[in-house]
Amino acid sequence: MEEGNKIPKSASSRLCCRCNERKPALKRPKTLEQICRKCFYEVFEEEIHQVIVGNQLFKAGERVAIGASGGKDSTVLAYVMSELNRRHNYGLDLFLLSVDEGITGYRDDSLETVKRNEVQYGLPLKIVSYKELYGWTMDEIVKVIGLKNNCTFCGVFRRQALDRGAAYLKVDKLVTGHNADDIAETVLLNILRGDVARLSRCTSITTGEDGPIPRCKPFKYTYEKEIVIYPCSYCKNLNQNHTYAYFKKLDYFSTECIYSPNAYRGFAREFIKDLERIRPRAIVDIIKSGENFRISTSTKMPEQGTCERCGYISSQKWCKACVLLEGLNRGLPKLGIGRSRGLENGNGNRKDMEQNGDVRSIESKQCGSLDF
Ligand code: SF4
Ligand code: ZN
Repeated sequence: MEEGNKIPKSASSRLCCRCNERKPALKRPKTLEQICRKCFYEVFEEEIHQVIVGNQLFKAGERVAIGASGGKDSTVLAYVMSELNRRHNYGLDLFLLSVDEGITGYRDDSLETVKRNEVQYGLPLKIVSYKELYGWTMDEIVKVIGLKNNCTFCGVFRRQALDRGAAYLKVDKLVTGHNADDIAETVLLNILRGDVARLSRCTSITTGEDGPIPRCKPFKYTYEKEIVIYPCSYCKNLNQNHTYAYFKKLDYFSTECIYSPNAYRGFAREFIKDLERIRPRAIVDIIKSGENFRISTSTKMPEQGTCERCGYISSQKWCKACVLLEGLNRGLPKLGIGRSRGLENGNGNRKDMEQNGDVRSIESKQCGSLDF
């Protein structure tokens, strides 16, 4: 167990710093306050409610899909969203929306968790699959391209799959379980890669307002350590004693994808965890820094259009998914990766496919859905 979360013996006789009545059950990772279980639930949920209200994420009567992978963040999101919707009368129609990438031994198992969540929370579930939408499963794609760029394909396909599922459900918004740690990592990664376009939007609580379905992140300021089990970076044991998902006994799936590369993002993740250990505010401060970046007006940003082939939003002639699929279907999968040139377009003309700004590798955190 990580030292930082233990209640020191000398303090065990103290009372919760919020209610001053009950014994503290944990030291909040975000604030280091010693707090009882009941107060932790209250403050955890209330902070998310304040983020929702303060940012006017929803309007009464809206249909909202919760991107649900069966993993920790989205399971807690589904639970908390249904609780807050009922408690505060948001007036939302909530749905679960899952993507089946076709990864045997991983997604098939995690979807079983989502199916249980459907019953536990009483939320209708829609599953969209890569096989249905694109004709390929991730298992088949990995057989062709190996384990180097698999998450690029998966991330691009997932983005569209979620939009298509959301359109099927006729929802007004899609919420995802990206937490504060994810966003801080993404800020750092975008700086390291010089990706100005993504840097400018990755801290926004709502994105895609000009696209088919706006996406919101109610966990923007929620620390991962407060959501669920996390591995101690020293002993690698799982610290499962002091988190919302554990206390609430939520049913989630915690196995990592069998194709997870854990590369560049993994280093950014470890770096942030190290910073957090020294100074918990570091996570929020990185997000604030990202919010305060100003992009020079002379920086050229990609213009939005639609894909000539499938009609999805794209800043190029073809959207990323169509370019990647073209490569797969022609037996030339690498042509769609990176800043490759020379893939022919649908008319048989060779076309500079310096791809849609870029199709650089989108590494995963656990499930790779961090392309925001
Ligand atoms: Fe897809 Fe995530 Fe697995 Fe990568 S790690 S293949 S993005 S599910
Ligand atoms: Zn208390």
